Amino acid sequence: MGLVIKNACIITCDQGVVIPDGYIRTKDHQIVEMGKMSAFQLQAGDHIIDAYSRILMPGFVNPHMHLYSQFARGMSSPKMISFLEILEGLWWKLDKALKEEDIYISTLIGLIQAIRSGTTTIIDHHASYGMIKNSLTAISEGFSQVGMRGALCFEVSDRHGEKDAEKAIHENAQFLEEVSEKCMSPNFLLRGMFGLHASFTLSNATLKKVREVNEKIDAPYHIHVAEGPEDAGDAKSNYNCSVVRRLADEGILREGTIAAHCIHVSDVDIELLKKSGAFVVHNPVSNMNNAVGRAPYIKMCAAGIPVGIGTDGMSAGISNDVKTASVCHKEAASNPSAGWNEVQNSALKVNPKIAGHLFGQEFGVIKNGAVADVIIVDYIPYTTVNSENFWAHILFGVLNSNVHTTIVNGKTLMQDHKLVGIDEASIINEARKLSAALWKRIG
Ligand SMILES: [Zn+2]
Repeated sequence: MGLVIKNACIITCDQGVVIPDGYIRTKDHQIVEMGKMSAFQLQAGDHIIDAYSRILMPGFVNPHMHLYSQFARGMSSPKMISFLEILEGLWWKLDKALKEEDIYISTLIGLIQAIRSGTTTIIDHHASYGMIKNSLTAISEGFSQVGMRGALCFEVSDRHGEKDAEKAIHENAQFLEEVSEKCMSPNFLLRGMFGLHASFTLSNATLKKVREVNEKIDAPYHIHVAEGPEDAGDAKSNYNCSVVRRLADEGILREGTIAAHCIHVSDVDIELLKKSGAFVVHNPVSNMNNAVGRAPYIKMCAAGIPVGIGTDGMSAGISNDVKTASVCHKEAASNPSAGWNEVQNSALKVNPKIAGHLFGQEFGVIKNGAVADVIIVDYIPYTTVNSENFWAHILFGVLNSNVHTTIVNGKTLMQDHKLVGIDEASIINEARKLSAALWKRIG
């Protein structure tokens, strides 16, 4: 007995296997059985979801998200003409004004969007300098309430002074400790990373403290790298080398670290990134929206760096960023074939690998024994789907369709477009009240 999804067109993302008319059975948090419908046998107590020929595939992983940014939608802000102005005029003001309830409801709003977009893991990068202590606990409560999988961290920065940077270091350490006690349970869906804002707001002294505190914990870092000209490490910066060199020398770029953006990087930087074992996360929609430049994505992939695709808070689901990555690098290279394999690899292999590194499990595949993070998409293919062309169906079909059902760790969070056990109306109601009050506080 278990949860059965039948009559599905299964894109396994496992060695290109596609089962045009198949089923899966999950038990507890795992996929325990799968195959063609002709082999399916009903068992007593089975709970059945009929996919009616829709696509079934692994849920998506968003490896760089800012859930705290939700209440910025529609907020008025002055015209900003540089990346630093966007940070100072919008994000740093907003994060300084957040209260506990804002953080919690922002999280729920983002996670509802994640569920609706078929995202089953969110790797969040948090800032709330008005409420540092226990902010990660407030976010984790949101994750637990909806049943989402993810990893959390607080971005350490010197932008509000040394004291706040120390509090932020402590918040990471405290959360990482809490997580290490609980992570043996297969039902505990959160992990921690050590969050850092970006090289240009981190002094050598603060980085030293971070390293000291993290020495025993040994957590991978999650940091913005060379996102704008302000963080490019050129002659204007305080350091006489590139930010990649600095972060590599400081031990921040290491195995499992997430280096978000990596736009203003040289060939030497790319080599350093490759050697470090860090993941790079490309966020093309945010980068275009902030006009900070275009990451040398194809070059970094060619160098053998595992490059994932995230959203940087622009959306909870990765669909827009994956579709944008697939076209912007074609345009840049004047080559309609550019990026085809790279974007597929980022979305279907590297993103799940980043989650896998944190959880010590394999993600992004439908197979026996795999974690039951599964989605059914409102997309019934009208042409053949096979091992040669499934990426085209995902890119042009799945990513343009609504998600029908989202299952995380074997638990159904949404079925037939209806959220399970989540009171969306009251969360929206609360968000409206809290965001209006937040906008007033920011002024
Ligand atoms: Zn970011």
